[in-house]
Amino acid sequence: MGWFEKKAEKAKIPPAQALWQVCPRCRSYVAKDEWKANNCICPACGYHGRLGARARIAQLADEGTFVEVFREVSYSDHLGFHDATGPYKAKVESTIAKTGERESVVMGTAEMGGVPVMLGMMDFSFMGGSLGTGTGERIARACEQAIAERRPLVICSASCGARMH
Ligand SMILES: [Zn+2]
Repeated sequence: MGWFEKKAEKAKIPPAQALWQVCPRCRSYVAKDEWKANNCICPACGYHGRLGARARIAQLADEGTFVEVFREVSYSDHLGFHDATGPYKAKVESTIAKTGERESVVMGTAEMGGVPVMLGMMDFSFMGGSLGTGTGERIARACEQAIAERRPLVICSASCGARMH
């Protein structure tokens, strides 16, 4: 086996961070599969890691009952805002590409313990879970739908506050 073949073979090995989660508190290495199966809780020290909106929905909604709504509602940039690091639009578009979400809250209908609900989960990975125009629009629409359909509205907050752009 020549030098170049060895190098190509080595490149197929996934990087350590793809396989292991390092606990932010105790620095233990936990296999990513184990970390996820344990709801992002460190088996060594009990540290609770961050959960995304979809993981929380999977925990709370009865299996197979969640139907996302208002996905078409996303941010708006009324001011054409720019700060020292660049335009707001570019930051949001980059976050959308990175997270696959279009706003900081995922909203839908679901059942919890057999009870029909409106279910909203904020996601900190989307610009710190900040409240942008699209987030507000989704929550307002969810309130209206919950009232119209007489469903309880359940929202889990994971937000740093209002989006300052
Ligand atoms: Zn730990």
